[in-house]
Amino acid sequence: MTTVIAQLSACLSDRLIHFQTTEDWRDWKWQLKNSITDASELDFYDPVGEDEIQGMKLAERRYKMSVTPYYLSLADWNNPLDPIRLQCLPDSREVLYSCEDSSEDPLNEEMHMPIEGLVHKFRDRALVLTTNRCAVYCRHCNRKRYWSQSNRTQTNAIKRLEAIADYISRHHEIREVIFSGGDPLMLSDNMIEMMLGLFKKISHIEVMRIGSRVPVTLPMRITDRLCRILSRFRPLWFNTQFNHPAEITQEAQEACERLQCAGIPVSSQTVLLKGVNDNLETMKILLQGLQRIMVRPYYLFQCEPVKGVDHFRTDIKTGIDIMDNIWGETAGLCIPHLVSDMPEGKKRLVGRACC
Ligand SMILES: *Cc1c(COP(=O)(O)O)cnc(C)c1O
Ligand code: SF4
Repeated sequence: MTTVIAQLSACLSDRLIHFQTTEDWRDWKWQLKNSITDASELDFYDPVGEDEIQGMKLAERRYKMSVTPYYLSLADWNNPLDPIRLQCLPDSREVLYSCEDSSEDPLNEEMHMPIEGLVHKFRDRALVLTTNRCAVYCRHCNRKRYWSQSNRTQTNAIKRLEAIADYISRHHEIREVIFSGGDPLMLSDNMIEMMLGLFKKISHIEVMRIGSRVPVTLPMRITDRLCRILSRFRPLWFNTQFNHPAEITQEAQEACERLQCAGIPVSSQTVLLKGVNDNLETMKILLQGLQRIMVRPYYLFQCEPVKGVDHFRTDIKTGIDIMDNIWGETAGLCIPHLVSDMPEGKKRLVGRACC
């Protein structure tokens, strides 16, 4: 069995190595056009087991799949428990395994939407759901419910943004607009420019923030042109999501550097994921790697009780123990806040509650 997998992964890497040397590989539109959106396209993957392929298909029918060739190229095909594979390939546990307390929308975001596409849960911050597209659909995403609702953000995008801007302009307590999704950088450069301009005009908006995973899943999206646009809207903060050291590649580092050179600080909101980064060694390498590329570890999120994500959940103690061990062992700049999102109210700081 292992030799078959080894051969297959060798032939996959040949395919990827061929592409990696081409201009196309560095073109983000090519990456999206050539993304793998169907488990059966992973034909090289079959011999891993018919069960596994069936499970992937089952999960994929419920939660869509899309993986850029770039992100897939980071996977180690000799390791069935590879952390990149776990994050991007559908898994039967998404549909077959669930805990009693999980729900589609554990953070109750739908209840805090005064208008479609705007989550106003914290008094001074408003979160705009810009699009429901992402470069890679992370299997652990807590907005999984949102992916399949194609007509929610696609139709009348501009009208919808104008309605949101109108709401925000009438709410003077809001000082920060956070663009989330989906992934806001799936929008075109022109659309991004228009959108940032629309909110920049509101006099009580002091800062804007973009939440995007493309530096990790599609780093070529961070083009010089995009950076020139973004730099005009400072103060602009950028949060991305690195979950494993294997994601800190040359390409990802360069993407973050382009943002930083445009005057945009980059932070990471890492998610604590079982089998991906729920051990001290991996987490320490990840956090130190982030410091090295000057991406500030901002939050470490406890994985939420989201339907279809339960197999990634760790208990509260895992995160607390990891952070307790890292604290004092390495630079404070490497230490994120361990937080848990609450259905009502604020993000809750986890651990080190007393003493
Ligand atoms: C996390 C979150 C924010 C931002 O919170 P910070 O603690 O400032 O990062 C804003 N709105 C919603 C709905 C959120 O879930
Ligand atoms: S990029 Fe973000 S919003 Fe998109 S699937 Fe991944 S975690 Fe979810």
